[in-house]
Amino acid sequence: MHRYFTASFLLIFLINTSIRAQSGRDNELFRRADSLHAKILTIDTHTDTPMQFFSNKSIDLGKWNPNTRVDFVKMQEGGLDAVFFAVFLEQGSRDNAGNIIAKNKALAIFKSIGDHISKYADWVKLVTVPSDVYLAKRQGKKAVLLGIENGYCIGNNLSNIHKFKQLGVAYITLSHTKNNDICDSSNDKPEHNGLSEFGIKVVREMNRLGIIVDVSHTSDKTIYDVVRYSKAPIIASHSCTRALTNNRRNLTDAMIRLIAKNGGVIQVCMVPHFVKSPLSGKATVADFVDHIDHVVSVAGIDYVGIGSDFDGGAGITGCKNVAEIKNITVELLRRGYSPKDIEKIWSSNFLRVMAEVQNLAE
Ligand SMILES: [Zn+2]
Repeated sequence: MHRYFTASFLLIFLINTSIRAQSGRDNELFRRADSLHAKILTIDTHTDTPMQFFSNKSIDLGKWNPNTRVDFVKMQEGGLDAVFFAVFLEQGSRDNAGNIIAKNKALAIFKSIGDHISKYADWVKLVTVPSDVYLAKRQGKKAVLLGIENGYCIGNNLSNIHKFKQLGVAYITLSHTKNNDICDSSNDKPEHNGLSEFGIKVVREMNRLGIIVDVSHTSDKTIYDVVRYSKAPIIASHSCTRALTNNRRNLTDAMIRLIAKNGGVIQVCMVPHFVKSPLSGKATVADFVDHIDHVVSVAGIDYVGIGSDFDGGAGITGCKNVAEIKNITVELLRRGYSPKDIEKIWSSNFLRVMAEVQNLAE
């Protein structure tokens, strides 16, 4: 009996000591993450927060909002300097009436994003070029950038791309979960066998105007076609890796290599069923960082970043919203990534691509 108690106490003592050592190390990693976020620029290249503006008119991005995963207060708390708001268009009918509705919807979303930013003009600003993202950080301001999610709103009129460029759009995701007139989607049956003839013209026009082509959501063949026709590097603004989670929305190693070879970047997302198969358990920050590790192992440290997809389905254990993103940095530090590497992942890889695409514009 006595010996049993002694052994039990010893065991409890050892467990407690190891938990204390573990949490002491976690505290130290969190302190390092905290000071790193103060120094380096951090950017999330895909959130669907504007979708919430229309379903919940009372949303105030200057307050902690229980219904959104992104707002300016959570950005402050999480140490996120810059965020892409997606102008998201659900795929509707592909005819003149549908195209007009999509374009008008896009314009209404651009307007509402502008309204939310101007309400907090001394805190947040809209930026369209990489140098202004860095400037905003130096000024102590949050930066909002714009992407269009679904080229559907271009309709069949290339001049709309110019209109969107004037409104500040930095990238266009060619499709969403259904085929459109530009290309095939990863979640639909092949129709154009990749990019359509019109889609090729869209890619060329985007190149000419310095808008990044985004292949998240598009079919495998579309990705190969885009790399073939784009003279500028391309991105996947919010995509995981298929080697780790077998889902058509995720990128194969061959695609990752191709995008990297073309000078582009893969921005890994936090949608649970892309991060981890629902059958094998809940997705955690460690599972998410496994995808970053995988892109690094396949293509190198210069071709990976983060595009959460918050408010578009993202949120994992340990990183439910943008206030918790330092947990990602903690995990990267734990795995031995250097501050320089972490800066590449959090911003400089993506901004290099954005600058190059804009420099190649005519
Ligand atoms: Zn998406």
